[in-house]
Amino acid sequence: MKSPLKRAIWVVAYGLVLIAPVLIMVLAPRPAARQFWRDAAVAIGYVGFALMGVQLIPTGRLPFLTDLFALDAIYKVHHRLSRIAFFMVLAHPVLLIVQNPYNLVALNLLSAPWKLRAGPIALISLVLLIATSVWRQWLRLKYEVWRVLHNVFTAGVIGASMYHIHTVGYFTALPLQRALWIAYGVVWAGITLYVRAAKPLMLLRKPYRVSEVIAERGNTWSLVLEPDGHPGHDFRSGQVAWLSTGRTPFTFAENPFSYASSEHHPGRISFAIRELGDWTGKVGALEKGARVFVDGPYGTFDMEDHPGEGYVFIAGGIGAAPVMSMLRTLDDCGDRQPLTFFYGNPTWESITFREELEAMKERLNLKLVHVLERPPEGWEGETGYITKDVLGRHVPFDLPNSVYFICGPLPMIRGVTRALHALKVPRAHCHAEQYEMA
Ligand SMILES: Cc1cc2nc3c(=O)[nH]c(=O)nc-3n(C[C@H](O)[C@H](O)[C@H](O)COP(=O)(O)OP(=O)(O)OC[C@H]3O[C@@H](n4cnc5c(N)ncnc54)[C@H](O)[C@@H]3O)c2cc1C
Repeated sequence: MKSPLKRAIWVVAYGLVLIAPVLIMVLAPRPAARQFWRDAAVAIGYVGFALMGVQLIPTGRLPFLTDLFALDAIYKVHHRLSRIAFFMVLAHPVLLIVQNPYNLVALNLLSAPWKLRAGPIALISLVLLIATSVWRQWLRLKYEVWRVLHNVFTAGVIGASMYHIHTVGYFTALPLQRALWIAYGVVWAGITLYVRAAKPLMLLRKPYRVSEVIAERGNTWSLVLEPDGHPGHDFRSGQVAWLSTGRTPFTFAENPFSYASSEHHPGRISFAIRELGDWTGKVGALEKGARVFVDGPYGTFDMEDHPGEGYVFIAGGIGAAPVMSMLRTLDDCGDRQPLTFFYGNPTWESITFREELEAMKERLNLKLVHVLERPPEGWEGETGYITKDVLGRHVPFDLPNSVYFICGPLPMIRGVTRALHALKVPRAHCHAEQYEMA
């Protein structure tokens, strides 16, 4: 089956999961005394909750999804749907109170019966879940702390909502309705077990050992890993893995990094890691032989998924990591396709892999366009940021079937994508990987 068809099937299945509670509600015989607005309030709450629950699917890094959809797209959909779900779940009590102000009693956390109290508890967990995600940086929450809170609040939302739905029992009387909610519960529990228990156990059986830690330009380390007691795993250059160190992979301290080595050497993989914070700041101190767990590969940001007649790579800073993987892979094959690499950096000295790239120019059909924010004296190349003007001067307009890979921080990706569209590069030819997830 072709990927577009598989994707369409997934989107339809996802939609069905969302509206299934309402479908069953509508199809089932409606008791005579029921009021329309009360039913509408319940329906909106059901869909909002189902929408919230299915967020475990995109964020669980389930291989059948990450093989089909770009990581960027998956997380974008996750962020958007979570906000929609929040407003739908919020609309549920608001509508109920507007329809009958007596329903306010359910909001009293001290005196309301537990079956009602569970509703506001779920809502409060949801508010905390969204607020800590949207304002994480403003709240100065460390990423690992945020991830623990995200999991705790998610469990709060799902647990309290399930209890509320089952004990209130509105539209859960029919066997089909009960079966649906039980199925949801099983799927959620299954995904949680997979993510928190089964996957770490699999990683535990296939550890990697540090083979080398090489200091690179630009405050970056090449972390070279070799499989320990197993043949390693295949990946496609451009894909991503989540790395963790220590005795076991049962940890929240796992960080995403693009493979930087050639896909032709799964027995010796490397990652280019820039020192930016707690975890990345410790990479340089990793000793030879230290244990690393590699959860990957993920994503579709790769040449196999997006074949072209030549490639244009556009990277800011450490966004060059997946580009290096692609170039090293092409270099290994003696490839002669036309390649252009726009590489933005603050200074000439901070260009990670500068010498290796220069050497590659001799072997590959590669045009290298360095763009420097603070160029050295006498610099005749491009300066500033990778803007429309810079792109317009070097993009291979004579190769309309070139594929564009853009990687780096979000503002850079937005700017470059807009510039490419303004230059009439078709959207379908542009693929981005942003280095920020929440
Ligand atoms: C798909 C993807 C691929 C990436 N590939 C590379 C790469 O090849 N090389 C590289 O140097 N960097 C890469 N990054 C960025 C890298 O994951 C973060 O720099 C790193 O996780 C920071 O961790 P820290 O604990 O050192 O920093 P912290 O001080 O904890 O955080 C610094 C910032 O990094 C981000 N961050 C922290 N932890 C995570 C996490 N677990 N997941 C996502 N973002 C996080 C947060 O926005 C945070 O504000 C990638 C990010 C993504 C999303």
